[in-house]
Amino acid sequence: MKTARTEDMNWQDIQTAIQDGYYTILIAVGSIEQHGPHLPTKTDSLIGDVLVQKITEKIDKTLQGPTIRIACSKHHLGFPGTITLQKSTFKAVIRDYVKNLSKHGFTNIIFIPSHGGNFAPLKEVIDELQNQYTSVNINGYTDLYEFVDILLEYSATEGIKPEEAGAHAGENESSLMLALANDLVIKERFAPGFVGKFGQKEGEMVFEKGIKALTQNGILGDPVKATAEKGHKYMEKLVDFLVVKVKEMI
Ligand SMILES: [Zn+2]
Repeated sequence: MKTARTEDMNWQDIQTAIQDGYYTILIAVGSIEQHGPHLPTKTDSLIGDVLVQKITEKIDKTLQGPTIRIACSKHHLGFPGTITLQKSTFKAVIRDYVKNLSKHGFTNIIFIPSHGGNFAPLKEVIDELQNQYTSVNINGYTDLYEFVDILLEYSATEGIKPEEAGAHAGENESSLMLALANDLVIKERFAPGFVGKFGQKEGEMVFEKGIKALTQNGILGDPVKATAEKGHKYMEKLVDFLVVKVKEMI
């Protein structure tokens, strides 16, 4: 097969693939939202798209479905360019993906979020769908803290503090973007945002009042030490970790 991305394939090759046992489809769930003054709004969608493509390549007989590019970004609406789906719309999109994909014969439908705000609503709708579809395996990777820990474990080996690596547009996301879309990253604007401890209290504050309550430039973390080399490494760590998790789900 030339590609495993269904959006780049035609219906005939998709049908043949399903008949040949390609029952598993993986879908990234990204965002279009502000990522500081230095990263494009498509950051999470691009990272998710590449991440899931790499995971798909490492698992036998698996296809990649179209990345959901707009999702749950209400807490970023204080900045222009952010588009959010209401939670009810987001859940409806996931339900429609499952309805359509299952009808065509996919029996393992797995969602992988690359944006923090998607994890909780995705878990809610997956729980609901698992009860509804008894002969289809609907699943998703929904452990946000574990996901963040994988990134932070590697940051630590590079001498980067969790406060710099950051929860949003900090060192780790900026490194990933230098690796994936160098031309869209404005290095001259690298500057720290909120660099205090980002714990549960801060997390709740961001989700309730919006991210501006914590940071004026939209960054949680500090991109200054970001490099493309580290970005490739972050990607590798995430891929290796998620390949194991996805294999457990199918
Ligand atoms: Zn992001």
